[in-house]
Amino acid sequence: MLHFDDIVFGPIFSRRLGSSLGVNVLPSKGKLCNFDCVYCECGWNRDGIAERVFPRLAEVEAALEEKMSRAAADGVPVDSITFSGNGEPTMNPDFPEIIEATLRLRDMYFPAAKVSVLSNATLIGRPAVAEALMKVDNPILKIDASDDALVARMNKPVGTYRLSEVLDNLRRFDGKFILQTMFLKSPDFDTAAPEALRKWQDIVRDLKPRQVMVYTIDRETPDKSLGKYTVEEMAAFVQPLVDEGFDVKISG
Ligand code: SF4
Repeated sequence: MLHFDDIVFGPIFSRRLGSSLGVNVLPSKGKLCNFDCVYCECGWNRDGIAERVFPRLAEVEAALEEKMSRAAADGVPVDSITFSGNGEPTMNPDFPEIIEATLRLRDMYFPAAKVSVLSNATLIGRPAVAEALMKVDNPILKIDASDDALVARMNKPVGTYRLSEVLDNLRRFDGKFILQTMFLKSPDFDTAAPEALRKWQDIVRDLKPRQVMVYTIDRETPDKSLGKYTVEEMAAFVQPLVDEGFDVKISG
C-alpha cells in the first residue's frame, strides 16, 4: 500500500499539476483516518502502526521552508502544494495554523503556486477547519455516497457520521470548493445504481461546487472485490450535470 514517510515530498512532475509538492500532516507510518474507505490506497486503518503522533506546526513549517527555499535556490519550479498523505489532513490538531504557515511560505517563495487540500469533509463543522479550507486555492472535498447506508458500506466512518450534517456544513462554502466523488461497484453495493446516482446528482445540484471531480479505482485497494468504471460510463453518469452547466472533470 502507498505510504508517505516524509512530511513534505517532491516536487513530483505531472501534466495535470506541473511541479507539485506533497504534504503529509499525518503520522508517517500506517494510515490514520476517521473514514476507512474500501478503496483507500493507504490500506485499512487496522493495518497501520497504531502511533497517533501528528507532526506539529513547527515541524511542518520547517519541512516546508526547507523544501521551498531549496527549490527556489536551485531554480526548481513549484506550481502546486497538495495536502493529502496517510489519512485525513484535517485531523491534525494544528491544521488551521499549518495552512496559515503554508500560505505565508507560498507567498514568499512561489506566489503563483496553488495550494490544494484533499479532505473527506467530516471535520468541516469545526469553524477553524472550515475557515482554513476556505483560504486555500483548491479545497477538494469528498462526497462519495448519497445516503448514510452507502457511506457506511463504502467509507466505513469511525464514529458517528451523518451525511445531512456534512451537507449542511458544505452549504456554507457557497459553492467555493471542488467536490470529489469515487465511483465503484462491489458485490455489496454500486455507487452508480439508478437511485444512488439520482440522489448524488441532486446533492451536486444543491451544493453547486465550482467543479466536480469524478474518478474510479486506480491503484491496489484493501477490499479486493471492487470493480471500477470506465471513463465512458462515468461520462454518462455526469452528463445531466454537464448539460446543466456544471464543470466536471473525469479521471479514469
Ligand atoms: S477518506 Fe481518504 S484517507 Fe481516509 S480512508 Fe478514505 S480514501 Fe483513505
